[in-house]
Amino acid sequence: MVTSSESVDVQVIVTGGGAIGLASAWEVARRGRSVLVLERFSRGHDRGSSAGLERQWRVQYSEERWSRLALETLPRWRELEAAGGRRLVHHTGSLWFGRPGVATSEGELRAAAAVMDRLDVPYDWLTAAEIEKRFGFVRLPAGHEGFYQADGGVIDVRGTLATLAGLGAAAGVRVGEHERVLAVEPDGTGVTVHTERAVHRAETVVVNAGACGAELLRDLGCPVEPHVSTAFGVLGALEAWSGGPVAGLRVLVHGAGKVGAVLAAELAAAGATVLVHDSAPGAAEIPGCLPVRDWAAAEVDVFMPCSASDLIGPALARRLSCGAVIGSANAVLADEAATLRVLADRGIVHLPTPLVNAGAVIVDSIEYYAPAAFRTADPEHVYAFVTSTVRESVARLLAEADTAEAPATPTALLRPPPEPGYCGPRFARSFPAELPHRPPGEPASDAARTPPSP
Ligand SMILES: Cc1cc2nc3c(=O)[nH]c(=O)nc-3n(C[C@H](O)[C@H](O)[C@H](O)COP(=O)(O)OP(=O)(O)OC[C@H]3O[C@@H](n4cnc5c(N)ncnc54)[C@H](O)[C@@H]3O)c2cc1C
Repeated sequence: MVTSSESVDVQVIVTGGGAIGLASAWEVARRGRSVLVLERFSRGHDRGSSAGLERQWRVQYSEERWSRLALETLPRWRELEAAGGRRLVHHTGSLWFGRPGVATSEGELRAAAAVMDRLDVPYDWLTAAEIEKRFGFVRLPAGHEGFYQADGGVIDVRGTLATLAGLGAAAGVRVGEHERVLAVEPDGTGVTVHTERAVHRAETVVVNAGACGAELLRDLGCPVEPHVSTAFGVLGALEAWSGGPVAGLRVLVHGAGKVGAVLAAELAAAGATVLVHDSAPGAAEIPGCLPVRDWAAAEVDVFMPCSASDLIGPALARRLSCGAVIGSANAVLADEAATLRVLADRGIVHLPTPLVNAGAVIVDSIEYYAPAAFRTADPEHVYAFVTSTVRESVARLLAEADTAEAPATPTALLRPPPEPGYCGPRFARSFPAELPHRPPGEPASDAARTPPSP
């Protein structure tokens, strides 16, 4: 372990001691390189994505490449288990069921089954009655179906972290705990890493800082923020629904977190009347917006959930006084089928979240598939592209809903994309080359939306 303000000179520095950082560190160290892991908190802390006891391990995905990747990882898991001397993935089997055709943030049942068919992955397709009989559920809603896939299971998170840390230590990995990385500065001969306690030097830095990675990468020419992108996508969805600019609309933003706060500020700047609710004291105090406590009773044109999943059930859907529900929160409808029915009966449009909150995926796609254009693009133009992309896809869906025979809600029209039509390359291809670009080295223009460091 590295202590106090000792400066270290190694071949590779890994920033972040979560599951991915520890795995990278072990992999690099066993190839004979000297490695230092820098972790802002302590080992095994519960403030990152690798917190908790277990994670789902599964083969089924609606996108074939994720299924292929999962299958490819299995021998690596076995290798890790053999090296560490303990079982880490417990193959309990994986049961997925619900209403086929409904796209969720986890995927869609029939699309995932189609991928398994293509990859020769065995599974049992089950009706509601079969699921009840085999797994002990009772009174599943009519129309529910699903499948059981025997290879799926549970990852022992703590065991995995302990195994990776132990193997890393045995291979010579050193870990600096409570050592937050403040800046990563590459130059012609290596990288200088500034932390709260010291200045380290390495040939290479691997940034594995999880959700905080964007903060560290910002100074390396990656000024586009995923949460701001998501907010601009939601704005595009709202514009599609309203059929034009948002000025004059009265909206309620529920949840002033990273996405909601940016969205509320942008809407207020665009001339909308913006009510904001957040349970955290002070979070709703956004310049130009009106904080509200009794949000469920607010009369608005649009209710914009940016807070939590399962927020709106049938009871709340009966009370909402709005023309549309358009927000960034994943899986915002509890008891989805019943809630959609209430919304449809009341003439309230619900736009499907996978379309509305696609902003971060869109910018990730541009970054991945069109890296040169992304590196020099001005963030404002990337955000404008996100807004127009989401606006167009939502407008198409709404036009389809208008012509469909009995569209309960636009959600009912959302179909999983046919394989292999990943949308990522499409976003990158349509990212316009003619947008004004930022000369390399010139500062980005979105400093105002940079969130304060926690
Ligand atoms: C609620 C939840 C449920 C999930 N469910 C599943 C699931 O069922 N199946 C599945 O496969 N995956 C699941 N995932 C995803 C999976 O848990 C993550 O992909 C994985 O844990 C990511 O590990 P990581 O090392 O990239 O990130 P983290 O574990 O977040 O590690 C990043 C580390 O970087 C450190 N750090 C950040 N900034 C700095 C800095 N400036 N200086 C130094 N250190 C820094 C952080 O403290 C943290 O320890 C889930 C994630 C969550 C949050």
